[in-house]
Amino acid sequence: MRLILLGPPGAGKGTQAQRLVEKYGIVQLSTGDMLRASAAAGTPVGSKAKAIMDRGDLVPDDVMIEIIAERLEEPGSSKGFILDGFPRTVAQAEALDTLLDQRDLALDAIIEIKVDEQVLIDRIAGRSKETGGTRGDDQSTAKRLEVYRKQTAPVADHYRRKGVLVSVDGMGTMDEVAALIDRHVQSLVEA
Ligand code: AMP
Repeated sequence: MRLILLGPPGAGKGTQAQRLVEKYGIVQLSTGDMLRASAAAGTPVGSKAKAIMDRGDLVPDDVMIEIIAERLEEPGSSKGFILDGFPRTVAQAEALDTLLDQRDLALDAIIEIKVDEQVLIDRIAGRSKETGGTRGDDQSTAKRLEVYRKQTAPVADHYRRKGVLVSVDGMGTMDEVAALIDRHVQSLVEA
């Protein structure tokens, strides 16, 4: 099963992806986690990415596409994957279409988690307090939401046009949202 979780920062993509990993045994490919790991390891890409992430901007498309192309080659992804945080621009979505076409792979679903902006702002502030502000980008919420509106929201339209987008209401509790996602994923498993 190959899925994409789309949604603004604070929508709960990471948490929902982890649940799907546990339930269906597929790997989670979180570009945010990969970049944070590279930054923590102090690699050249990681150090450059950290400054960009902290100010709430996007890491350049060519860097991200290369990272994902490498991951798709790893044996772990052969059973399936959940992309969390990628694609974040239409250019990334188009590059992913090509990467998958070249490997004769198709996406089973693109699930968009929809949440009102004020709720996102409150959630990110709450998460920042809980983690003691360890995520450098929690101070740049407004910028990240603006980047989402301008650069990532069109990605949903890209998939909507292809007829493969499912939108779920992300305003409920994590369990409620998980149930909505599960209902859809289960229908794919049973199909
Ligand atoms: P996330 O954990 O998914 O919210 O990602 C944290 C930050 O990593 C984002 O605000 C971006 O700066 C960067 N990032 C993660 N994924 C991507 C991507 N696909 N394209 C560009 N930048 C990304």
